[in-house]
Amino acid sequence: MNLGTLEMEKLKQVEDFAKTKVRSRAADIDEGSSFPTDLVEEMGRIGVFASYIPREYGGLGLSLSTLMESIRIISRECASTSLIPDVAVSLFGEPILKYGSEALKKRYLSRIADGTIGALAITEPGTGSDAAGIKTTALKKGEKYILNGGKTFITNGAEAQFFLASAVTEPELKHHGITLFALDREMSGLSIGNEFRKMGIRGTSTTEVLMNNVEVGEEQVVGEINEGFKIEMDTLNVGRIGIASQAIGISEGAIRDVVNFWKEHKENSKEGALFKLADMVNMLHSSVSKYYESVGMVEGGMDTTLLSSLSKLQAGDSAVKITSSAVEILGHLSMSEKYPAERRYREAKITQIYEGTNEIQRLIIGREILKSGGPHF
Ligand SMILES: Cc1cc2nc3c(=O)[nH]c(=O)nc-3n(C[C@H](O)[C@H](O)[C@H](O)COP(=O)(O)OP(=O)(O)OC[C@H]3O[C@@H](n4cnc5c(N)ncnc54)[C@H](O)[C@@H]3O)c2cc1C
Repeated sequence: MNLGTLEMEKLKQVEDFAKTKVRSRAADIDEGSSFPTDLVEEMGRIGVFASYIPREYGGLGLSLSTLMESIRIISRECASTSLIPDVAVSLFGEPILKYGSEALKKRYLSRIADGTIGALAITEPGTGSDAAGIKTTALKKGEKYILNGGKTFITNGAEAQFFLASAVTEPELKHHGITLFALDREMSGLSIGNEFRKMGIRGTSTTEVLMNNVEVGEEQVVGEINEGFKIEMDTLNVGRIGIASQAIGISEGAIRDVVNFWKEHKENSKEGALFKLADMVNMLHSSVSKYYESVGMVEGGMDTTLLSSLSKLQAGDSAVKITSSAVEILGHLSMSEKYPAERRYREAKITQIYEGTNEIQRLIIGREILKSGGPHF
């Protein structure tokens, strides 16, 4: 990862924030399922949201690496806190930046840079992996589109001021008939439904987003009409790297827990457990190298479909194994507040599910390999 001086300084600031402000709060955020409002405001102030957004739209104009490394650093302490800017920037800001009109960029990006929260609303009941099977419709009426439908399990749903929502504009075209709309929370007909309790990342809200005759002009379309599915997939290519960085941060936290534990309980560092630690570090290294490679490819303007899926698959599966090993090594103490191994185990699990389950990543990887004519060896 090639980071300039400004980027290194920013990451140092993020690291100080994570160690001094986030670490001590993570257990309470988890236990209370409480959204960390003050930490989100602080992330707005220190530029976690702004880092990747270009200067002309109110951001700091730093690299994707800076955003991804920030997510990784904060995830070492609390994966709820890191997910909030990750979703706002990489799932709401990024598609606006890449595909939105100049007016949409001006309207939304500086707000996101300031720490205002955004969300991406694709999933519907029964259509998670099958994102092309959505039922939400956007019917054209004169110059307007009328949206009706319901999204479910939407991260940041309770706090988001802006949503990118997918809707069917031409049903007969199947996935070529889906369009993405930028919606404001206060739009008439948009409401937030149930909020779900979760096994992990409990400090983030996960809600239904309901649309009942939400009326929007064509200026709220992101990209072209019927281009939504393609934009979603492209967005997830970057989003999945964010999930890899989150999984890596969680894994690093778990390895740190084990080492700290052994500093205090030397009698427990038995040979078998050392073997476990070696496997944990080995898996982490593989995750980090794929993650670096995929970030570099995005920054180099290359197609990252294969590497993004490989990164998420590797880092997510490894995070579950690494945190599980940490729980085993710490024994009953893994359940104590001092060593948050069990929380990390619950945080790790979600990285195998959202932004495309790891089974779906395997499908993508298999298809990409066949599409390219097979491996070149
Ligand atoms: C905490 C959390 C936050 C989320 N945040 C968001 C968000 O912000 N925005 C959003 O739009 N969505 C969000 N989601 C939804 C998430 O993206 C979906 O849960 C995910 O895509 C899987 O869809 P599903 O849950 O409907 O599972 P299903 O698609 O029903 O899959 C169930 C199982 O079947 C497997 N499976 C499905 N299809 C295939 C196949 N073709 N081949 C092999 N195996 C298959 C899956 O891997 C999985 O194991 C969130 C989910 C969670 C849990």
